[in-house]
Amino acid sequence: MKKQFAVIGLGRFGGSICESLSKQGMEVLAIDTNEDKVNRFANVATHAVVADSTDENTLKSLGIRNFDHVIVAIGDNIQSSILTTLMLVEQGVKHITVKAQNDYHEKVLNKIGAHKVVHPERDMGVRIAHNIVSKNVLDYLELSDEYSIVELMAGTTVNGKTLIDLDIRAKYGCNIMAIKRGETIDVSPSADVSLLKGDILIVIGADSDINRMEHALFDDED
Ligand code: ATP
Repeated sequence: MKKQFAVIGLGRFGGSICESLSKQGMEVLAIDTNEDKVNRFANVATHAVVADSTDENTLKSLGIRNFDHVIVAIGDNIQSSILTTLMLVEQGVKHITVKAQNDYHEKVLNKIGAHKVVHPERDMGVRIAHNIVSKNVLDYLELSDEYSIVELMAGTTVNGKTLIDLDIRAKYGCNIMAIKRGETIDVSPSADVSLLKGDILIVIGADSDINRMEHALFDDED
């Protein structure tokens, strides 16, 4: 059976989630208090309704507890976001993802039982900053305060070298999870694979180790 999602709040963030889930063939209920926004998503989502998610009876009548995953994408109105999340938790929704507006908002959401709190502006800022500092860092995903996954573009320093030559695990404490070359992805590459300029390496490790490796091996200017 198809997974059923509900997206509450159809701003840029909620709207984009709604579109992407629908494109992936999921069943999506789009909810917003703003009729124009709901009309805009009528042909995108499976169902789109004008409703106020802070109204407990409305949530019940929508059968919100039966959805596999509910995304709360109300940003500016922190009070509504918190109240909605609280009611979703009380109604026993299995997976609740909420967009936080700031660190205090995030703290409260975690306390009241949101299963996942996302901070898209902050996270995207961090990712873009990493990419600005080093053009070989294509993407960056923070796993915790200490650990990350990064996508690094192979340049001339590593061109033609094998993972054994570079001795990445021993020297830098990082692990290469996969190498993307054009359309092919080599997951858990063997140590004797030779890197080519333009390969994309997906690396996991402690931030300090990734930084050292980045500067030593991926800082090419060309
Ligand atoms: P974004 O930064 O994602 O573009 P935004 O600034 O467009 O968001 P927000 O104020 O963060 O808008 O709210 C997102 C959407 O949530 C808006 O379309 C708003 O109408 C809707 N919304 C706000 N409160 C509720 C509520 N209680 N129930 C349902 N929808 C709501």
